[in-house]
Amino acid sequence: MNDKVNLIGLTRQGLIAALGAAGLPERSLRMRASQIWNAAYVQGLTDFSGITTLAKDARATLAQHLEIARPEVVTEQLSADGTRKWLLRFGPGIEVETVFIPEEDRGTLCISSQVGCTLTCRFCHTGTQKLVRNLTAGEIVAQVMIAKDALREWPRAGRNADTRAITNIVMMGMGEPLYNFENVRDAILILADGEGLSLSKRRITLSTAGVVPMIARAGEEIGSMLAISLHAVRDEIRDVIVPLNKKYPIRELVAAVRAYPGLSNARRVTWEYVMLKGVNDSNADAKELVRLIQGIPSKINLIPFNPWPGAPYACSDWERIEEFAEIVNRAGYASPIRTPRGRDIMAACGQLKSESIKLRAKERLADEAGAG
Ligand code: SAH
Repeated sequence: MNDKVNLIGLTRQGLIAALGAAGLPERSLRMRASQIWNAAYVQGLTDFSGITTLAKDARATLAQHLEIARPEVVTEQLSADGTRKWLLRFGPGIEVETVFIPEEDRGTLCISSQVGCTLTCRFCHTGTQKLVRNLTAGEIVAQVMIAKDALREWPRAGRNADTRAITNIVMMGMGEPLYNFENVRDAILILADGEGLSLSKRRITLSTAGVVPMIARAGEEIGSMLAISLHAVRDEIRDVIVPLNKKYPIRELVAAVRAYPGLSNARRVTWEYVMLKGVNDSNADAKELVRLIQGIPSKINLIPFNPWPGAPYACSDWERIEEFAEIVNRAGYASPIRTPRGRDIMAACGQLKSESIKLRAKERLADEAGAG
C-alpha cells in the first residue's frame, strides 16, 4: 500500500489538479498534462522515468506523489477459441473479470463496471453475486490497460491504430453501468479521448438492463452506443427474469430508447435477447418484439443462453432460435445469433463471477470445519 495518486482514471481536469498538487508550476500544467496523458495512454508507460519529454527533476517530483499503476492480475485464462479472461484484483475482495473476444474483423473487450451486481436477473450468474462496490473510473480504465499490456498493443511492441487488437469495447461485464454513472462516464470519456486511447464512441457500447431515468443522461453526457438487455416483451415475464422491470416496465424503457439522441441507421441501438427455452422464445414473442421497437433504428442480438451450475433455465433449441431470428429479420432488422465464446473458461455472457467468491466460500467452510 502507498498513498500515491494513480493517474489512470483521472479526467484531464483531475490530472491537471493532481500535477499542480504535486508541485509542478502552474503555467505549464496543461502542457505537462498532455505529455503525461500521451505517455500513459498512447505509449502505455508505467513509469515517470520513461517520460523523456519531462525534465529529470520534474520526473522525480512526480514519482514522489503520483504513479501510473496497474492492478494485480490474479489469473489469465485462454479459451480454445482464443477468448481471454483476466481476473483482476483492486484490493482485498475487490475483484472483477474482463474478457477479450477476438473475431475476424474485430477484437472486442468486455469490461465490468461493478464488483457484483444488484439486479439479480434470474438467468445471470453474476446476478447471484451480491454487489460489493462500484468500480472507480480508474478501475474501469485499468481493465483496458491490462488487456493492452497482455495483447502487446503499445507502439513499442509494434502496434498502432491500424493494427490494434482491441477495436471495440462493450460494457457488458459484471455490474449495471447506469448504477455507477459518474465513474462509467468518466471512464468512457477517457477511453474515447482522441489524444489518448482514441477508441471511437461509435465502438464503445454501454449495456443496461434498463435504468430508464439514466438513459437520457447517458445520451447527453456519454454519447456511446447503447445496448438494452430486453430479454422479454411482456411485463409478466420480464418482471421475473429482469426484476428491474417492476420499477421500469417495458413501455417506459422503449420510450426512453426511442428518445436516445443520435440514433440512425448508422448508429443503431442493440437489443439483447437471451434465448430461454419455453420462456421467451415463441413466434408470438418475436412478433411482439418487432412491434415494440417499430420505428427505432435497431439491431437485435439473440444470445443463446449460457448455462451455469444451478441455473433455472435451459437454452432454446437451435431451430427455435433460427425461426425467431427469421421473423425479426423479415421485419427488416439485423438479428445475428451471437456465437457463445469462451464457454470453456466461463467467460461467456452472464457467466462472469469471480472465482475468488467460490474460493472464499471454500476457505470459510474449511475454517468452520477447523473450529468445530
Ligand atoms: N447490467 C448490464 C450489463 C451486463 S451485460 C445489462 O444487463 O445490460 C451482460 C449481458 O449478458 C446482458 O445482456 C445479460 O442479460 C446477458 N446475460 C446474462 N446472463 C446470461 C446467460 N446466462 N446467458 C446469456 N446471456 C446472459
